[in-house]
Amino acid sequence: SSLLEMRSITKTFPGVTALADVNLMVRAGEIHAICGENGAGKSTLMKVLSGVHAYGTYDGDIVYRGEEVRFHDIRASEQAGIVIIHQELALVPGMSIAENIFLGNEPRRRGAIDWKAAQRRALELMEQVGLVEDPDTLIKDIGVGKQQLVEIAKAFAKDVKLLILDEPTAALNEADSQHLLDLLRGFRERGITSIIISHKLNEIEAVADSITILRDGRTIETLDVKAEGVNEDRIVRGMVG
Ligand code: ADP
Ligand code: MG
Ligand code: MG
Repeated sequence: SSLLEMRSITKTFPGVTALADVNLMVRAGEIHAICGENGAGKSTLMKVLSGVHAYGTYDGDIVYRGEEVRFHDIRASEQAGIVIIHQELALVPGMSIAENIFLGNEPRRRGAIDWKAAQRRALELMEQVGLVEDPDTLIKDIGVGKQQLVEIAKAFAKDVKLLILDEPTAALNEADSQHLLDLLRGFRERGITSIIISHKLNEIEAVADSITILRDGRTIETLDVKAEGVNEDRIVRGMVG
């Protein structure tokens, strides 16, 4: 069954049609890859979904868990369990891993931040993503691969149901990329749905259950990997035309 349906999404900026009648259907529990060349509209589509581009600034409908949703900001989508990790990470370099994981979302007790609970919960979340650092380590002192993991831990702190990763391995080395893809597979085992934006065929092949190809702001194809496997030629042709 589908967790998410974006129907006929059109989004324009002054002088640019970023998305024209785009459709996206994501099944519950799958890893859905969105691929396309630079400028195809991938990030914009996910910004529409997550309320970065608020309801009213695009055309079309979003149906999530069987209901039409209208997100006016990113908080609203996060409350619904949709968490997006952007290409530009949103971490505070001078703050610790634990502080970044919560950042305004700290566990509280009688109104006050419960630091003990926060520390405990941070460790649990870090373990889920395979981070063995001291939670007090500053973000600026860890590499970009680990920063990406902190972002994912932060998503889990918000009780994520649909995790969206926008080109998560773009700046990662091979080992960190593999670790991240392994994590996604593990999340799938736990029933968490994810969308990964990527144009790397090898990683799409490694994790995707379904693939949506965008080109010039249009949906070109949707492939069901389970049913038809990964047809590299078809993907490349879809991406470049
Ligand atoms: P992708 O993520 O696939 O590389 P984007 O969604 O970032 O593509 O961009 C799609 C198109 O929309 C591009 O032509 C881009 O320049 C344009 N665009 C994206 N965001 C904005 C914005 N905030 N203002 C103006 N144009 C934008
Ligand atoms: Mg992008
Ligand atoms: Mg409409």
